[in-house]
Amino acid sequence: MEKLLGHEKQRTALAELAVQQRLPSSLLFAGIEGIGKRLAAQELAAQLLCAEQPCGPQGGCGSCKSCVLLRSGNHPDFLSLSFGVDGATVDDLRAALDRLSLKAFMGGRKVAILDSADHITAVGANTLLKSLEEPRPETFFILVVSNPSRLPQTVLSRCQRWFFDRLTPETIRSILTARGEPAAGDAAAILADGTLSGIETVRARADALSEVRSVVEAAFQGDERIVGRAAQEWGSDKEGMRERLAFLRACIRQKLLQSASDPDAASVWAVALQNSLDGEYMGLERHTNPTLVILDVLRSCNRSLAKRYQELPVGSPALAERLQER
Ligand SMILES: [Zn+2]
Repeated sequence: MEKLLGHEKQRTALAELAVQQRLPSSLLFAGIEGIGKRLAAQELAAQLLCAEQPCGPQGGCGSCKSCVLLRSGNHPDFLSLSFGVDGATVDDLRAALDRLSLKAFMGGRKVAILDSADHITAVGANTLLKSLEEPRPETFFILVVSNPSRLPQTVLSRCQRWFFDRLTPETIRSILTARGEPAAGDAAAILADGTLSGIETVRARADALSEVRSVVEAAFQGDERIVGRAAQEWGSDKEGMRERLAFLRACIRQKLLQSASDPDAASVWAVALQNSLDGEYMGLERHTNPTLVILDVLRSCNRSLAKRYQELPVGSPALAERLQER
């Protein structure tokens, strides 16, 4: 099991409730995809099932029989179902609930993780509801969802809700380091948009990202030759447009975050960031000439040209109009 990073507040609170034996029997972990909710559920399950009394430390002790069985995927009192695409059926759910109604094989607690529980069918939700309404002693349900509003109110009202946020760039950097992967830098952490799946994209496209970074740096220094060449090259690559613009935005955002102590530079990057957002809209939604869109975004990164770009009311249709005039 991968070590979980981030979400310290929620995880610490949950671990404390478990130790104090004040954890309700039904929990709902909500938050966008790819941030580690399921890992947080597994961590709590390990703690609840650990043979230490009244329960193990956060994530379990790791060495008792229960922890070893859980890690190998063979714990008889642990159930895990996923209701995503091609996921568990209502029959699978019924079988799981039957198993949970038996006495604990290991004599301790029983835990069920229901992943993507927001994809459960209406019949499934009803089946589950009965178990949530009449909680058996020492039996815990953890529902993991990205969209809680998809669940019927009857199910929601039975669960204590825990919300999980996007991962911070710092956490993403720590995850990359912990995985022994070359840290792709701040831009990558920011570009990952607070999700683990974002890291994968960034990792797979490290070369493209680093190319965009160096062009942005050249644009800031006013290197028109590099800017012009990049605009030509990227502008003619229709398929790569969406990614290039996203990378541009991420690199500019990173520059802005790094220039807090240099107000002049910060104001350049703030304008460029807005222009990159406008550029995405114009280039992708309005199909404005992509070469011109990229040229404009890159030129607005130029320290000495920035003044001119700043005179435009940023975020207004002014930039859009100007782009269209060309
Ligand atoms: Zn243990």
